[in-house]
Amino acid sequence: MIAKIQSYSLTGLSGNKVSVEVDINNGLPSFDVVGLADTAVKEARERVRSAIKNSGRAIPTKKITVNFAPAGIKKEGSAFDLPLAIGVLKSSGQLTADTDGIVFLGELSLDGTLRSITGVLPSLISATKDGFTKFIIPDENKLEASFVMEAEIYPAKTLAQVIDHLSGLAPIPRYQNQTYERSTTKPLYDTDISLVKGQAVAKRALEVAVSGGHNVLFVGAPGTGKTMLAKCIPTIMPDLSFEEALETTKIHSVAGSLKDSDGIVRTRPFRSPHHTATTVSLTGGGTHIKPGEISMAHNGVLFLDEMPEYTRSTLEALRQPLEDGIITVSRANFTVTYPANFMLCGSMNPCPCGNYGSEEKPCTCSASQIARYKAKISGPLLDRIDIQVHVDEVKYSELISEEKTETSETVKRRVNRTRLIQKDRFKDDNILTNSDMGEKHLKKYCKLSSDCEEVLKTAYRTLGLSPRARSRIIKVARTIADMELSDNIMVAHILEAISYRQS
Ligand SMILES: [Zn+2]
Repeated sequence: MIAKIQSYSLTGLSGNKVSVEVDINNGLPSFDVVGLADTAVKEARERVRSAIKNSGRAIPTKKITVNFAPAGIKKEGSAFDLPLAIGVLKSSGQLTADTDGIVFLGELSLDGTLRSITGVLPSLISATKDGFTKFIIPDENKLEASFVMEAEIYPAKTLAQVIDHLSGLAPIPRYQNQTYERSTTKPLYDTDISLVKGQAVAKRALEVAVSGGHNVLFVGAPGTGKTMLAKCIPTIMPDLSFEEALETTKIHSVAGSLKDSDGIVRTRPFRSPHHTATTVSLTGGGTHIKPGEISMAHNGVLFLDEMPEYTRSTLEALRQPLEDGIITVSRANFTVTYPANFMLCGSMNPCPCGNYGSEEKPCTCSASQIARYKAKISGPLLDRIDIQVHVDEVKYSELISEEKTETSETVKRRVNRTRLIQKDRFKDDNILTNSDMGEKHLKKYCKLSSDCEEVLKTAYRTLGLSPRARSRIIKVARTIADMELSDNIMVAHILEAISYRQS
């Protein structure tokens, strides 16, 4: 008889229904797999063979044919081991239970243990949208699965356990679904902006950046605490909503980085790929397409320490995602799109020796050396970084100061308020923050008084601003005005915004 078992595969973050069809006939013993299955699926055949044997069942010495349908979609990974094994058992009459409407996912080890797989959360979200409610999955994946409210989860540790469950011998208890609630006893992040000593200007710039969704570049000598400041960004960003948390978790599920978590990503990601990172590791891709660092940073922060050290091609690869909030990666015959909406934070020295602009140490670089160093970050990329701020060395008096500084929680409350103003302003514009504004939004929401125009005109002439720099200044000024609950952009807001630029 033909057995049809339901499973799912992923393209990017969306799940596709896959039907595993097993047919067993008399004939020379064989085990053929057809239906665009990649090598991993073919390897599944060997694992399934051993797992069935080691679960006290038999592989029929007949002609076994397996078809993965539909043929048109790419099927990768090891999630089909379990449905394949169940299909063989059913088709050979060793299991008579009804499996209609149940989705099976899981990798088998040779001894019949069910091993965790990647991408369970996005698969289940798609499957529940398709109307499926019952899922048999590896025990290790139950936490992420439990956040899909519509799903009935039956987690299993072995193939034998699944067989006993289906045949009614030993039903697996349904795993309790979880709700997304923030624990009030445990702090979300292990750092806090109150731990940063001094740095009033940089902290203010950071709050402006996060408030308006602006990318930020810290320019300062080594040891001035640029990394520490960057690490504080997630702590002052608004808390992740459930929708954002799910979206972020989907990516981390596909990347296989959910282990040791409680199944859902609750904190805004902070990713800091080293400057030797390859473009593929940053953007995603590879033989088995996986999300890259910029997608792992989705809804959080991508921190590039010592930005000029990254290769030109790596930095250029960021431009499109910074514009679109998504990244499309291609392989031979298909493409995959992952979300990549992150806040970019970069850091760099002011010059090759690091001392340019320091009051205490002399800079030994020539003007042309400094220019060459700065030119490593291209103009078009800099154009996407609205705020560029100089980070000074911390003064000794500030270092030993016992003065209480604001906590991240306090700053976050203000950020939330400023974000709400923007949400309301842009409710019909399909954008969220001031940094997303295009020219038409600037015209609509950033009317400038003649005084403001005058200040900009002077800056334009004396600082040699580009037209793009002008737009950036106005966007940042809009954010500063929002922070002060001012409907109109004032001269003071423009002046502060002008101060946040190094080039
Ligand atoms: Zn120097």
